[in-house]
Amino acid sequence: MEHQLLDVAIIGGGPAGLNAALVLGRARKNVTVIDEGRPRNAVTRETHGFLTRDGTSPSEFRRIAKEESSAYPSVSFVEDTAVSIAGTDGHFQITTAQGKAFASKKLLFAVGMKDRTLDIPGLAEVYGKSAFICPYCDGWELRDKPLVIISKGADVMHFAPLISGWTSRFTICTNGPDELTDEQREELRRHRVPVFEAPIRSIDSDDGIVRQVVLEDGTTIPCTGIFFKPELVTGSDLPRAVGCHVSEAGTVAVDDFGKTNVPGVYSAGDVASRLHQAITAASMGAFAAAAINNELNMDAWKRNE
Ligand SMILES: Cc1cc2nc3c(=O)[nH]c(=O)nc-3n(C[C@H](O)[C@H](O)[C@H](O)COP(=O)(O)OP(=O)(O)OC[C@H]3O[C@@H](n4cnc5c(N)ncnc54)[C@H](O)[C@@H]3O)c2cc1C
Repeated sequence: MEHQLLDVAIIGGGPAGLNAALVLGRARKNVTVIDEGRPRNAVTRETHGFLTRDGTSPSEFRRIAKEESSAYPSVSFVEDTAVSIAGTDGHFQITTAQGKAFASKKLLFAVGMKDRTLDIPGLAEVYGKSAFICPYCDGWELRDKPLVIISKGADVMHFAPLISGWTSRFTICTNGPDELTDEQREELRRHRVPVFEAPIRSIDSDDGIVRQVVLEDGTTIPCTGIFFKPELVTGSDLPRAVGCHVSEAGTVAVDDFGKTNVPGVYSAGDVASRLHQAITAASMGAFAAAAINNELNMDAWKRNE
């Protein structure tokens, strides 16, 4: 059975969706956040770099955010997966995996991105504990420590100078042919950065803390942390299914206010940006909420409601 016609259905309850819910709740809009609860940073113990919440666990962050949004009576939450969306601007119909149905005037996709980690034995055990993807998120905790960067090709030349801001003790493992140019190899040599091309056999660890990286040729590289670049995929196929332009990298195309090419459909957070930080996602959620609210108010104003 379909519920009341909501002003906004928010798909995804991470920092982007939750901040949007807060802003829309304060703007007196009827909002439901449908969230299946699989946030991108669930593997980590702490969220860093978010003013007033530096070091808070991802689950505690979401608990506080939900508590704050819930203070506004027009905001509600549903733990479920949105599986299909029909309709157009003014009346979208959303159905969920548990068979619930919702209808809303506007839609906000805040579905995040998902990381496909590398297929290296031992990586899953350390991911989120001592192996990370973003030095802005976790570089401080690994400062001055011996690290291994798993990366190849042009990405190495981005990673190496970046990581050098946190530690000078790092080694590059390309896990196969390095795909570097002679100039790039020379640049790394000048900076005394060791580069190993042999495939990685395993990552050895104790209680999630890396001890060493072992290569197929028998080389062992002692280290206490790892940075690597995962393959990113979009958090949900629904934006594409409703006709949103989605890049090859899985990012939904939006304007500065989160508006997609589909009337009445907005997107915010990691899935609509190349800047993947909780505070950026929250900020995008707030901007999209303001734009949606403006559109709803203007629609009503024009109808002289
Ligand atoms: C290992 C790791 C560590 C990180 N550390 C930090 C850090 O320290 N500081 C920092 O600022 N950032 C950090 N990040 C990045 C941060 O997690 C993201 O930038 C942030 O979570 C993006 O928020 P979001 O709201 O866009 O998406 P998410 O937080 O991923 O939330 C999206 C939500 O939408 C839900 N969803 C998706 N599809 C559907 C659907 N069809 N129906 C219902 N729900 C759906 C998902 O289950 C999820 O709950 C880290 C990321 C990783 C991977």
